Amino acid sequence: MATKKVEYVCKYCGKREIKQANMGRPLPGKCPRKTGDKPHSWVVNRRFES
Ligand SMILES: [Zn+2]
Repeated sequence: MATKKVEYVCKYCGKREIKQANMGRPLPGKCPRKTGDKPHSWVVNRRFES
């Protein structure tokens, strides 16, 4: 059975993370393009099955 996955991309630095759809969003982490210890701004780039 195919697993639904979601590719997230940070709209500030372009970092990509792929997560299973039922695993929620990636960890906030630290975005190198923002000043201070700010988290990535994850947006859904695409959804797919694999
Ligand atoms: Zn980022």
